[in-house]
Amino acid sequence: MANATGRRFMATPGPSSIPDRVLQAMHRDAPSIYEGEIVEETERLVPRLRRIAGTEGEIAMYAANGHGAWEAALVNTLGPGDRALALYTGGFTRNWAQLAKELGLEVVELDFGTAGPIDANRIADYLRGDCSIRAVLMAHTDTSTSVLADVGAVRHAIDVAGSTALLIVDCIASFGCDRLEMDSCGVDVVITASQKGLMAPPGISMNFFGQRARAARAKLDRVSPYWDWQKRVGSQGYYQMFFGTAPTNTLFGLCEATRMIEEEGLENVWHRHQVVAASVHAAVACWGVDGPLALNVALPSSRSTAVTTVRCPGVDVANLRRLCETAFGVTLGTGFPMSPATVSSGEPHTFRIGHMGHVNTPTILAVLGSIQTALEVAGISYGRGALSAAAHVLAAGWSSGAPNAPLRRD
Ligand SMILES: *Cc1c(COP(=O)(O)O)cnc(C)c1O
Repeated sequence: MANATGRRFMATPGPSSIPDRVLQAMHRDAPSIYEGEIVEETERLVPRLRRIAGTEGEIAMYAANGHGAWEAALVNTLGPGDRALALYTGGFTRNWAQLAKELGLEVVELDFGTAGPIDANRIADYLRGDCSIRAVLMAHTDTSTSVLADVGAVRHAIDVAGSTALLIVDCIASFGCDRLEMDSCGVDVVITASQKGLMAPPGISMNFFGQRARAARAKLDRVSPYWDWQKRVGSQGYYQMFFGTAPTNTLFGLCEATRMIEEEGLENVWHRHQVVAASVHAAVACWGVDGPLALNVALPSSRSTAVTTVRCPGVDVANLRRLCETAFGVTLGTGFPMSPATVSSGEPHTFRIGHMGHVNTPTILAVLGSIQTALEVAGISYGRGALSAAAHVLAAGWSSGAPNAPLRRD
């Protein structure tokens, strides 16, 4: 029974499922980029994005994916030879640090393994002994391991060490999923992109930056013009905002997606992600009672609410994913290399369940139910009761968080 008909479900950690409202907002002819609706929609978008980020700071937007915003954050704050401390919580933090090295930065690495949590004392100890560090680079959620790092603890470590380093946080996976308020948390730069918690297609990424980051930019003699924050902020006109033609239709989509987030309320959005993630964790824990499946992150407070990495040693993951996709219409995330050590020990014996953005009770139950069906078909042993456990968590979450949340049909 190949090619299941019926609704398909994207359970990859980006690009995530796009709501119909967002699709419909984009389905239109090219707008004028001189005046009118696209300019007005973008004017509405910017304050909404800043509210989601929890910042009064500036925003620079790029017609680029997350890798572009990674590079932008580095070239606007650091020059060749400057030293940065990179906190490794998985493959994405490592890849970002690699990009930093290729830009000519000196990267000092602190490795916190592939299952969290980070140890803020190690960061403070290191910074006490090295006052030349100009920036600390970390991911709020590393999407390979699904480790959620405690950004507030890192801020505190920088402060107690007496370091003046900027705190630059990759929030590409966590934005609009895991709670983070940039200004009150003391984050200097937040990096994100359109295609994960923001429910739009890939193609728009951004840097939010505060006073200290802006001052660091002002001190640099030269910044690659395309990525330069200064060219994109201020009152230099709509064309300058994207340093050329804006990604118009993607912008219409992102505007609609952020409108949906405002209608639901950011607190409700965060709560929904927490409940949905907890239901996934409960299900995977049940499966793991009798069989090879296990949550990659043991400590609940270190688990992302956007993505769950499932370890499954000995399992033919490619076959499991293929079954889910072709027989049941559910696309799971592949295992993403977490570290050189996990690669040499035989990855990919992981898959990832994306539950970011446009997810609710029926979507997550469909995904979990389909995975369990695929386990059955593939003859992989698993503990019983996972779907009941998930429903139980979802029911409890609904009771605790429902009052403010409007019933949605998007
Ligand atoms: C997806 C992701 C990236 C990369 O984003 P692209 O748009 O694929 O370039 C970087 N960091 C994290 C944490 C991510 O989840």
